[in-house]
Amino acid sequence: MQIKAAVVRERSAPFVIETLELCAPRVDEVMVRVVASGMCQTDLHGRDGYFVSPYPAVYGHEGAGVVHAVGSAVRGLVPGDHVVMSYPWCGDCANCRAHRLNYCLNSRSLKSNGTRADGSTLLEKDGKPVYSAYFQQSSFGSFAITQERYTVKVRKDAPLELLGPLACSGQTGAGAVLNALRPGRGESIVVFGVGAVGLSALMAAKIAGCDPIIAVDIHDHRLALARELGATHLINHKGRDDVVGEIRKLTGGGARYTVEASAEPKVLREAIDCLIMAGTCALLGSARRGTDASFEMPFLQQGRVVRGVVQGDSIPQEFIPKLVDLIMDGKFPIEKMIKFYDFADINKAAAESSAGLAIKPVLRMGDYK
Ligand SMILES: [Zn+2]
Ligand SMILES: [Zn+2]
Repeated sequence: MQIKAAVVRERSAPFVIETLELCAPRVDEVMVRVVASGMCQTDLHGRDGYFVSPYPAVYGHEGAGVVHAVGSAVRGLVPGDHVVMSYPWCGDCANCRAHRLNYCLNSRSLKSNGTRADGSTLLEKDGKPVYSAYFQQSSFGSFAITQERYTVKVRKDAPLELLGPLACSGQTGAGAVLNALRPGRGESIVVFGVGAVGLSALMAAKIAGCDPIIAVDIHDHRLALARELGATHLINHKGRDDVVGEIRKLTGGGARYTVEASAEPKVLREAIDCLIMAGTCALLGSARRGTDASFEMPFLQQGRVVRGVVQGDSIPQEFIPKLVDLIMDGKFPIEKMIKFYDFADINKAAAESSAGLAIKPVLRMGDYK
């Protein structure tokens, strides 16, 4: 079937919307008409060659849409269902067998090899392969193919164009708080870096009843949004070297929980140094490989925990519908961080995202059938 998709022909090249041939879904696969897709830093890492995946390629891993066709073995979805496509996992490795799907030992290749697990490609142009299957979906297109098990059915009264970001940044931030840290009411939390992931963590902290909720960032407009979404205190990090002391003062001795969503080693150090004894820091920021950070051993020994969290420790089939309910109840107002772009303006979306002008760009594919 002919589709339109945003193709990156070589490392760091712009996205170009091309007409491509998409194969039919296999027995366990689902073909989705993409309504909208979030754009995440990871898509730009892919475009810029960070994952050593092949070109030409189609990215996108926060897709929401309508089921168009299903393979013969698909039981839980039918054409017309509204869905969000989430992260892939192999189902066979030690972590998948332990139901820790977000730490699948094969996730890296499933996310960025550009092919299905068996090496087959899904898209072609003029008889030559175009690599896709990014996070086993490649949602920067008018249609995408994914597997049933990564495809989450959502309620039909929810606005689909808002839901794509739940697949990655939304569940990463919210899940880090609600699934991994699990703070109690009245416990303190600090979020370092209030982009899409940090703001999702912050909205979840408000849902959990945390107090105070301190947002730290270097952009005033992002801090203003953090305030609107539930932050009780704001710290603009720019030009300050007393951030840890300020947090200790605001929390009466140290934060119970911190969330590091900036991917800066210096900021991670602060997120550890401001913890109270036995406090926990969740590391969410995706730094490039080889990035080192330090901590003081006697300080950490006092019961403090630093742990990485991927995809918010979420089981998407359970957690994404919960987040959709929270959106519908007005408790997870994700629309406040979204900036919509027409699919044709994908390069503008990427540029504005990199420049910090758009917190969560979402591409609308509506007219590209
Ligand atoms: Zn696995
Ligand atoms: Zn992502």
